[in-house]
Amino acid sequence: MSLYLKQIEQLVALQRVDSEIIAIKKGMEAAPKEVDVLRDEFAKLQAAKAQIEEKMHYLLEQAKRLDGEITDDSLKIKKSKNKLMMASNTKEYHAMMREMDNMEKLNRMREEERSTLEEELIRQRTAQTAINEELQKFESLLEEKSNSLQARTEEAQLRLGHLGSERKAAGGSVPPPVLSRYEFIRSRLAAPVIVPVTAGICSGCHISIPPQSFIELQKGTQILSCPNCQRLIYWCEHFQTEEAAEDDGRNIS
Ligand SMILES: [Zn+2]
Repeated sequence: MSLYLKQIEQLVALQRVDSEIIAIKKGMEAAPKEVDVLRDEFAKLQAAKAQIEEKMHYLLEQAKRLDGEITDDSLKIKKSKNKLMMASNTKEYHAMMREMDNMEKLNRMREEERSTLEEELIRQRTAQTAINEELQKFESLLEEKSNSLQARTEEAQLRLGHLGSERKAAGGSVPPPVLSRYEFIRSRLAAPVIVPVTAGICSGCHISIPPQSFIELQKGTQILSCPNCQRLIYWCEHFQTEEAAEDDGRNIS
């Protein structure tokens, strides 16, 4: 293999390591967001639960008040019934009857209100049960996700450590001037730094290489850059035989 091809191969190897590093870092950034979304959902459910509890508290207070009023007036009605016999005249008797009627009417209204409250309480209790179940599910899911996040982070950090050494090894075999060109591009452009040219098109920017540059590239004597995106380029067919052989190997097995 020519020196040119060997260098290209080393750069591609370096790129492979860098691409994996980028992918791992991206994954590490995305994973905590996933957990954050779950935490937000969990907080929303807790807020909804608190709202239900507040409503229930209010409903129970109302129910307690109504129960008290109903009991009080029932007692008054009972007392009035007993006093009815002691009415000294018809006028007083009618007045007492009217008062009892009013209290009975009021209590019937309270009973109605009370049963409406009871229905609402049942609805809220059902909602509370549902939300509690959901919260429980969320809690275990959140715990599971946090644990797996921690495991994944540790795994990723370990892999990054390995890749760091691999990167040093891969970079070590690239001649310093070529390596500094690679690093220069890496610091300025979005990955990848080195890309194949297939059918005359740069796979970094998807624009055609000018014919003169393409002829130069096919000669395979010096490392060229895409005139459009400045990424390092190589002709895919310089490596096609090897890759084709690899493909065949895979197909057979
Ligand atoms: Zn390009």
